[in-house]
Amino acid sequence: QHPGAEDREAAAENSLDAILPNSFAAGAMPIYMQRRRLPIAASREQLMYLVDSFQTTIVVGATGSGKTTQLPQFLFEEKWGNAGIIACSQPRRIAVTSDVFEMTAARVAEEMGVEIGKEVGYAVRFDDVTSEKTKIKYMTDGILFREALLDPLLSRYSVVIIDEAHERSLYTDIMLGILKKIMKKRPELRVIISSATLDAQVFKDFFNFNTTADASKDTAVIVSIEGRAFPVDIQFSKMPHADYVNESVEVVLHIHKHEEEGDILVFLTGKDEVDTVVALINDMAKSSKHLLNKIRAIPVYGGLTLDEQNQVFESLPSGVRKVVVATNIAEASITIDGIVYVVDCGLAKIKAYNPKTGLESLIVVPVSKASAQQRAGRAGRTKPGKCFRMYTERTYLGLSDTSVPEMQRSNLVSVILQLKAMGIENVLRFDFLSAPSAESMAKALELLYSLKALDDYGRLTMPFGLQLAEFPLDPPLAAMLLNSGGFLCAEETLSIAAILTVQNVFVSPSNLRVEAEEEHRKFRVEEGDHVTYVIDSILHVFDKYFQFSKVYNAFIKNKQSAQWCHKRFVNYKALQRAVVVRKQLEKYLKKFGVDIRSCRGDTVAVRKAVVSGYFSQAAKLQPDGSYATLRERTICHIHPTSVLFNRSPNYVVFNEVLQTDRIWIRDVSVVDDPKWLTDIASHFYEFKS
Ligand code: ADP
Ligand code: MG
Repeated sequence: QHPGAEDREAAAENSLDAILPNSFAAGAMPIYMQRRRLPIAASREQLMYLVDSFQTTIVVGATGSGKTTQLPQFLFEEKWGNAGIIACSQPRRIAVTSDVFEMTAARVAEEMGVEIGKEVGYAVRFDDVTSEKTKIKYMTDGILFREALLDPLLSRYSVVIIDEAHERSLYTDIMLGILKKIMKKRPELRVIISSATLDAQVFKDFFNFNTTADASKDTAVIVSIEGRAFPVDIQFSKMPHADYVNESVEVVLHIHKHEEEGDILVFLTGKDEVDTVVALINDMAKSSKHLLNKIRAIPVYGGLTLDEQNQVFESLPSGVRKVVVATNIAEASITIDGIVYVVDCGLAKIKAYNPKTGLESLIVVPVSKASAQQRAGRAGRTKPGKCFRMYTERTYLGLSDTSVPEMQRSNLVSVILQLKAMGIENVLRFDFLSAPSAESMAKALELLYSLKALDDYGRLTMPFGLQLAEFPLDPPLAAMLLNSGGFLCAEETLSIAAILTVQNVFVSPSNLRVEAEEEHRKFRVEEGDHVTYVIDSILHVFDKYFQFSKVYNAFIKNKQSAQWCHKRFVNYKALQRAVVVRKQLEKYLKKFGVDIRSCRGDTVAVRKAVVSGYFSQAAKLQPDGSYATLRERTICHIHPTSVLFNRSPNYVVFNEVLQTDRIWIRDVSVVDDPKWLTDIASHFYEFKS
């Protein structure tokens, strides 16, 4: 049955020729050859045979072997696109935004010689670049989950690839449970679980169910792709480093001085750190004689423009060493050729939920051993490499083997609401790959009840609960929007929600902090951050100047608006994006029949709308100047970037939590009277203040 090796090569070649128009073939040659040289190309026939024969195929292969870019194309060439769309879903990580999806889709479109958005497209929240013609669709796992909400059997799809399954992201895990249900009803549906490193057996066991008479037949199979990995020499620090950001620059300089040629990849935890290190290295490359034009640092994180991201793939003039400074994004989602040295800080920023405090925050934590190995592996793709770990061997040995699945460290409010909306009443009995704690579930159910999304029997309320589930936003934020009609301030909350979604509207470059501060102060109001975003403030001025919601196309195209933003230290790109997001959110409100009006400066109305979504995140001033959350008494502090920093109002509500040595709250509004809380969320606050 299995064709021989030569046949396989020929088959691959033929099918490629078939999809490349002749006139195009010459121009596509280099890419065509690049495709054939990927490790996955040798397994093409075997893979396609297995997908034909088994309902679930688990593909294990090192990062860079071609899983993400090639699998969907193989399936397309084998006509799986005729029966429906080939979906490839990936987790959307904190450090990774839509760019990765756009980049992958663009690359695949290029390989196929088609235009992005036609045969090959992508969909992320608020951005759908697909059309009627689309047969290969890259998407976030969250979007795939949403599709299942609207189309419970995923009937538009013929194959679903769950990529990067080893990440064990919240929505990937949920999707596995949902796919299992769907597959029992749709035996023709194919599922491919793909991952860099994983405990493949866990997935096989999960998917090896049998609905046919022949009970001995497996329905799931594991296949490994032979990688071409070279050995990587690992060097540990002798001592722990407190300041890994500056230390990473030292290590880069050390490599540059003592090691042979080859590019360097540095792993840090976030955008700010990356920017700092890139600036330090590039400044040195400009000023120091022996580094002059010999080294160049390039940042990689979510939120860069496509051009900026493509920069990392471009080769530099010979003799110039490329230093890619990246967040987690470079760990598995993108592969940069030519990396020989890896510098690893051993930390990553993750989202963590604490059911005791009811707060979800971003924290920096040590990576798992699996992650550390994955990072090191990036150095051995083209030849033997070296990995410099900025932590001691002892620290390494103390790391956990794998990361805790996101399901077990997440706020489950959104997921549970959506499961309910899918008709899965008893969420406690859902087939989870790793079940979350009962405590987290209980917390989520309670909040949903308080938001009035669930009734006394735990059923979705109509229409409110269902509308809340349909909104592509966290339930509290969606509740704020849906309730704001009643407070007569939906115009304002739409802007607030858009700005909170895009984040970082105000920019404060490290070399111009004072100037930025001065500009930003002009927008600040004493009622808090939310009002600052919309009334007599940045968006107010912006609104008047550009008629924010009305002529957004004009704004986007307007060069002046970029200058306007630049002068005020406002992130132009973020505001552009906010305009797009706002437009989409407005569509939802219209669909749900919410009365969209402006409160014309009534900041109490706006803040009450905020409270109607975020009442569970309220805090009271303590004698020592800190705050304590009302229900759980967790001590927190207003973040220095908030307009309320140092203003000490008695009661506040907040959206976001950031955790360092302290718990910081961000996007904070003043609650004039605690009665607002007890009136709006009486069921949540049964105490007398
Ligand atoms: P995997 O999913 O197995 O990690 P990919 O399919 O993402 O592998 O990548 C396969 C190859 O394609 C890699 O060598 C990578 O460098 C290359 N590649 C992927 N995306 C791009 C891009 N946007 N531009 C140039 N090369 C790319
Ligand atoms: Mg991949």
